[in-house]
Amino acid sequence: MTQPSFGVIGLAVMGENLALNVESRGFPIAVYNRTGEKTKEFMAKRATGKNVTAAYSLEEFVQALARPRKILVMVKAGKPVDAVIEQLKPLLEEGDTIIDGGNSLYEDTERRTKDLESTGLGFVGMGVSGGEEGALNGPSLMPGGTEAGYKDLEPILTKIAAQVDDGPCVTFIGPGGAGHYVKMVHNGIEYGDMQLIAEAYDLLKNALGLDHNQLHKVFTEWNTTDELNSFLIEITADIFKYIDPDTNIPLVELIMDAAGQKGTGRWTVVSSLELGVPIPTMYAAVNARVISAYKSERIAASKELHGPTVTFDGDKEAFVNKIRDALYCSKMCSYAQGMALLSKASQEFGYNLNLAEIARIWKGGCIIRAGFLDKIKNAFNENPKLPNLLLAPEFKQSILDRQEAWREVLMLANKLGIPVPAFSASLDYFDSYRRDRNPQNLTQAQRDYFGAHTYERIDKEGVFHTEWSQNG
Ligand code: NAP
Repeated sequence: MTQPSFGVIGLAVMGENLALNVESRGFPIAVYNRTGEKTKEFMAKRATGKNVTAAYSLEEFVQALARPRKILVMVKAGKPVDAVIEQLKPLLEEGDTIIDGGNSLYEDTERRTKDLESTGLGFVGMGVSGGEEGALNGPSLMPGGTEAGYKDLEPILTKIAAQVDDGPCVTFIGPGGAGHYVKMVHNGIEYGDMQLIAEAYDLLKNALGLDHNQLHKVFTEWNTTDELNSFLIEITADIFKYIDPDTNIPLVELIMDAAGQKGTGRWTVVSSLELGVPIPTMYAAVNARVISAYKSERIAASKELHGPTVTFDGDKEAFVNKIRDALYCSKMCSYAQGMALLSKASQEFGYNLNLAEIARIWKGGCIIRAGFLDKIKNAFNENPKLPNLLLAPEFKQSILDRQEAWREVLMLANKLGIPVPAFSASLDYFDSYRRDRNPQNLTQAQRDYFGAHTYERIDKEGVFHTEWSQNG
């Protein structure tokens, strides 16, 4: 048996599946997990007859690997990653590379990169998307770090990644924490997509009264469209047809409406605030999950704070199409925000991101995979300096053609008292971005009034202050 040079530490769902993916492409591997029982279980249940070497101590694991070693760490993000790196450091030799494939905060990756590179070890912070199925059969991979470190891994990564019409869903993202930054924004976009779909479902069900068979049909139909064809729309259609065997009720209706989160959406919002890039759709999605968790308070409030009692009495079929258009417009705005955030981060952190390539590697393997990403790739290929996706000819026309329907959907939601925070945030983004004069002239006047913060004028150069209370 050839000695492996690639090893995986951490045999939870992601580590196990990535290890099997690598092995299935013809690369022998070594594996290690802190709890040895899990390694034994993995070997017995999933690795029999495969080119996998099990190790029960880190020393044994490192010894099992041929140099230069490539070690993929797939443990819980945060302190466990530091703990594993500290244990590995004294055991490794110059030229070996540690790859952190977890959902690490990009700032941690920056720190780890500096620390490890000063010791002669390579470090690659790699975003991995696609969940357990993607990890096994082909994820989207976002590796950052040194380009030389990536080149060593390229033959393996290009084979294990999802494959789309224009290549494997992996590319060198950029230096330091670039890979994890891009994965973080990917997750922020994923939050936005999921919330937008949830709002469309709410409207279809509670404004138009569609039942689960009809919802299944609508989402199945939407999944065939150029605009909305995507993994998330596809699984949503599937969810509506799943009937709980115990109650004979669609399972989705029995699920508690309190959404969990692990932090990548919040990190995206924090970074956007720090960089001064508006991402209101993603922020709305994070907030929607936060407020969803106030379940008992919402139940109490629902008895006190009544909404409108009006019902929809228009043409349902026509309105289904309007909701589809509103979803697409909102999605375009959400991606415009995400790409703008990446663009600013690229300048600020020197990541030198290739936005067309990033859109391309999201076309397969990951949770936000969608036909629509091809259009984004083309838009940035045509103009890599595009200031905002909404200005690309294709997107501009798409949104202008649909904005009337989008506004009508929001008016109906408001009239019926159905919250559509991400739809609304997207429309507000669109309207704020497209207007040449917003009301912040008044904000500036107020700031100058109470704090002498000064202001600029539109009719002459300079910086001005006024004693506002002394006029008239
Ligand atoms: P996880 O539940 O996040 O982590 C469990 C693994 O971490 C186990 O192998 C555990 O070992 C190990 N671990 C925890 N603390 C440790 C420590 N102090 N020292 C050594 N090992 C330690 O596993 P996961 O869901 O497979 O995710 C792995 C990483 O991928 C995470 O960063 C996650 O956010 C990211 N990710 C997950 C998904 C997904 O769909 N699940 C998708 C993309 C990315 P023991 O068995 O000994 O406890």
